[in-house]
Amino acid sequence: MKIAASLLAIATMSLATPAHALQADQDKPANTENPTAADAREFVEATEKQMFDFSIDAARTYWINSTYITDDTDALAAKVGAQGTTMAVNAAIDAAQFKDVAGLDPVTKRKLDKLRGGIVLPAPTTEGAATELNEIATKLNSAYGKGKGTLNGEEINGSDIEAAMGTNRNPEELSEMWESWHSNVGAPMKDDYARMVEIANEGAKELGFADVGAMWRSGYDMPADDFARLTDKLWAQVKPLYDELHCYTRDKLNEKYGAAVQPETGPIRADLLGNMWAQEWGNIYDIVAPAGAGDIGYDTTELLVAKDYDAMKMVKAGEGFFSSLGFEPLPESFYERSMFTKPADREVVCHASAWDIDNKDDIRIKMCIKVNGDDFTTIHHELGHNYYQRAYNELSYLQLDGANDGFHEAIGDMIALSITPEYLVQVGLLDAKKVPSADKDTGLLLRQAMDKVAFLPFGLLVDKWRWGVFKGDIQPDNYTSAWHDLKLQYQGITPPVERPADAFDPGAKYHIPGNTPYSRYFLARILQFQFYKAACDTAGWTGPLHRCSFYGNEQVGAKLNAMLEMGASKPWPDALEAFTGTREMDGSAMISYFAPLMDWLKEENTGKSCGW
Ligand SMILES: [Zn+2]
Repeated sequence: MKIAASLLAIATMSLATPAHALQADQDKPANTENPTAADAREFVEATEKQMFDFSIDAARTYWINSTYITDDTDALAAKVGAQGTTMAVNAAIDAAQFKDVAGLDPVTKRKLDKLRGGIVLPAPTTEGAATELNEIATKLNSAYGKGKGTLNGEEINGSDIEAAMGTNRNPEELSEMWESWHSNVGAPMKDDYARMVEIANEGAKELGFADVGAMWRSGYDMPADDFARLTDKLWAQVKPLYDELHCYTRDKLNEKYGAAVQPETGPIRADLLGNMWAQEWGNIYDIVAPAGAGDIGYDTTELLVAKDYDAMKMVKAGEGFFSSLGFEPLPESFYERSMFTKPADREVVCHASAWDIDNKDDIRIKMCIKVNGDDFTTIHHELGHNYYQRAYNELSYLQLDGANDGFHEAIGDMIALSITPEYLVQVGLLDAKKVPSADKDTGLLLRQAMDKVAFLPFGLLVDKWRWGVFKGDIQPDNYTSAWHDLKLQYQGITPPVERPADAFDPGAKYHIPGNTPYSRYFLARILQFQFYKAACDTAGWTGPLHRCSFYGNEQVGAKLNAMLEMGASKPWPDALEAFTGTREMDGSAMISYFAPLMDWLKEENTGKSCGW
């Protein structure tokens, strides 16, 4: 769920990259005349040092821009971004010269690959291209942050409209919010986005990639096409579960709203699922909760309110989980410098993110926390990024990252999976007498599946769309129709209203204007169950997998740390093996976790015409 700052993601790999622009000998290329392995090592070492230093200034600039959006901070962020992109591209081009040098040691080879392929938005060397690319990227990001929709004709900001989509049950109002948000936020970005794609593709070609999408797929220790096939394989493993959930949910929405709003067959109307992008459906659990087994007996939001939790107390609870596994407490600066709540008097990017400002200990989160169960989960997730960042802080600059980018997202989610009734009792939120009995498990699992399983096709299609855009298969005229075609094909959902030809609906999803690659979230959904099962196995849990809590188990903490502290220093299968004992990503742990629900859904769907 949520993200590691998209800006940070860019910062880690591209904007914060450094090399030449800070050097006096900017125009003197690295020694690429008959380079030796020693030259390559020297180049990598010098580049890492420069990147490390530049990344700190860049991260501070982005932090200020994201927590205080003004024309001035936009300009500063764009400037530092342009510098960073230029440096990153120079380093990538130099790295490409070294890639076939004989006798490279594996560590240097891996770092060179990372330099060459790790740029999110590569600018070409054409005069002015880096500046233009960064101005567009900054403009798109800010436009999203300042975006507004309407509810009953009144303006409503991004974080409020997101929340309202989860609680509102009036189909006309839901449709208005959905339509206004997509039209107001998305449409004005379209031309800039198309231009950005053009520039970045030129940059990718200069580095020897077919396009930006191929470059994004190159970061998984396997050929780009193999990675696309791997995601398809993982999706095929879990799709049967999604299909049953879709069928069951559609039926419940039909019962609640009637056939005029939600027909009995075909796709589900996108605005009825409790989320602006229909990416997670947990907010409409009240609508799908099964009679008898549906009431899980407590509501996390109510528990938090009843115990007088505020933003700070919620964050402390998240920290407490990691402390219980044996991790060191967060530094004081975390509490002094993080942004926990939305400031009253200025524009900020509310989208939750985790930051590592100095590559050592100055870790922070940026959120507009509301006291509810979702944000309680998100805090655990964001802290997962921070603890990962701190665990690998002794490695060299190019190894300061997750084993692959899905790992970073999965760690926090694995911790969040442990927010079981047993855990809520352990931290004093839930009365032990209120722990739901085993016959409530259907409700617990369905509530989880509404978020975790519902997300899978969305997690897959965001980058399928972008891969198509960067490849040129999807042209600007078809941006919106292709987006909704994919949403129909994979998610089985449809917009509440006809979309105009000049719309740019993908732009109304943060990660598109924010330029955050999205496959990581799909991988994270799969990996978190693999991690969770491994943790529960280590903890010796023998009950149903979904009830396991490894809170307080330092043996799990030690094993987890063994994986985290490897950072990106080894191919991801090595890291996966350190914690789980296997070198393959696969969906079987997720299927085991939801097995009782799968049986129940099949029974419920008997006689229904599933599919769309
Ligand atoms: Zn994240």
